Amino acid sequence: MKAAVYYHPDFAEKGYFILRDRVKPGFDALQDLIKQGKIRHHLPILNQEIEELLMDTHSPEHIASVQAEGEHYIALLSAAGVVQAAEQLALRQVDFAFCFVGAAGHHASPDSYWGFCFYNDAVMAVKKLRQLGLEKIMIIDVDPHFGDGTRKFLGLDPNIIHINFFGNSGVRKSDARLQNYDIPVPAYGDKSFLEEMDRVFALSNWDFELLIVIFGHDSHAKDYGNCKLSFDAYPLMAQKIKAVAGSRPVLFILSGGENPDVARVVIPSVIKVFLEEN
Ligand SMILES: [Zn+2]
Repeated sequence: MKAAVYYHPDFAEKGYFILRDRVKPGFDALQDLIKQGKIRHHLPILNQEIEELLMDTHSPEHIASVQAEGEHYIALLSAAGVVQAAEQLALRQVDFAFCFVGAAGHHASPDSYWGFCFYNDAVMAVKKLRQLGLEKIMIIDVDPHFGDGTRKFLGLDPNIIHINFFGNSGVRKSDARLQNYDIPVPAYGDKSFLEEMDRVFALSNWDFELLIVIFGHDSHAKDYGNCKLSFDAYPLMAQKIKAVAGSRPVLFILSGGENPDVARVVIPSVIKVFLEEN
């Protein structure tokens, strides 16, 4: 198992103000794993390729609006780490990657954004993966807010499996042809969330080449989402995701969450599940 973590100090310094305080505590909690050589730290890099992927993903008006809000740099640097991790995974240089971010992505649509999500990092990664010849991607979104932006981009693509868990009592939907699954997991806690995971994961013998996980720890009871999970839920959630992934590469993208005390526990706890050999 080769593992990578993408982190830039600017995520903590210049990240979106609600999201940034949890970033450094989450990364600091990985220092033992980094020192032991179990996971390797990479710095995201802004380059021409990232600029081109951005322009291929969002409209000029959208980009100008993010620039006017002063969030362009941190949102693009966040997406850069995700794209660079996706490339490493596609080339099988690593088997698992966890990407810290200074802004999130799953509410960003082609021409609009909300909820601290400016550029859709996962969609930019999918574009990069397709350039590298990977077509079938599974996206599991466990952030307790619905990944509406990602769905707008990819919902009609039958080669994208999109499983969306969300912490309100929205409508349960299941479209096997387009492989879109909407799973409401209101504030019933660990048991109901984990049972819903089992239920949806058992629906199919999923056919994909790489798994992306939108990892928002705003699902924790001490964070601002509505899932009311405890610390115990996260390694169990990770084990279920790992079982779905099998031997395929896995890309975790940090999403919502503001509580440093949650980040410093749940981020290492999910990563350690993937580092275990079995
Ligand atoms: Zn969220």
